[in-house]
Amino acid sequence: MNYLRIIILLVIFNVTFGCKKDNSFKPNSGYIEPIDFLSGKKYKMLVVEISYVQGYMPTQETVNNMVTFLSARLNKPKGVKVTMKSIPSPRKSSFSHSDVVYLEKMHRKHFPLGDILTAHILFLDAGYIQDTDNTKYLGMAYGKTSIAIFQKTVSDYSGGITQPTNEVLETTIVNHEFGHVLGLVNNGTSMQTNHQDNDHGHHCDNDTCLMYYKMETTDIIGNLVGGNIPELDQNCITDLRNNGGK
Ligand SMILES: [Zn+2]
Ligand SMILES: [Zn+2]
Repeated sequence: MNYLRIIILLVIFNVTFGCKKDNSFKPNSGYIEPIDFLSGKKYKMLVVEISYVQGYMPTQETVNNMVTFLSARLNKPKGVKVTMKSIPSPRKSSFSHSDVVYLEKMHRKHFPLGDILTAHILFLDAGYIQDTDNTKYLGMAYGKTSIAIFQKTVSDYSGGITQPTNEVLETTIVNHEFGHVLGLVNNGTSMQTNHQDNDHGHHCDNDTCLMYYKMETTDIIGNLVGGNIPELDQNCITDLRNNGGK
């Protein structure tokens, strides 16, 4: 009887241990650098995985614009592809940095493998925890291959008569955050001439450039009503070209 009990305990222990071992194995992309996106040497294809909270899907135009933006700058001979899936609402009134990291862990399926590089974008149904009445964040790049878009805020501040269209505001913030993933400004892709806005972190000092700091928050709304999606200026493009990009 005792012998049997020991055997059973051992079996349980082994199963538990086995499960633990599996759970602790989490693929990651922390070793990816901007040059892996920009250059075609190691990775020939980029797959962008979009996980959106139900009801907060980006427009097809935004997805197309993002692919056009990335294809113009990245050397990816096998192309830039997009996968999309919906996720249930996390039921939060705002998201912190650690909330976003946790949600990615829960929902991200694709990690870099072979010559395929992957990135993950969350489209969320609430704002950032550091939002104020005057300034709200539209998105953030928080990992080497990870972006979160505060899509509730994006949709609150676009699509109205006096507001930019959904497509313009969504594309602006998605492309801006990808700019950070690509190492802009002075954030893994070195500057060829000094154009960092030192008062505002890894942003460009040109107020018409996609990487200007205001592009990340609702402060930019008034500048986008004309309908043009901001683009990278020459200084930012030169930096990307010097780090393997097009
Ligand atoms: Zn930014
Ligand atoms: Zn710039």
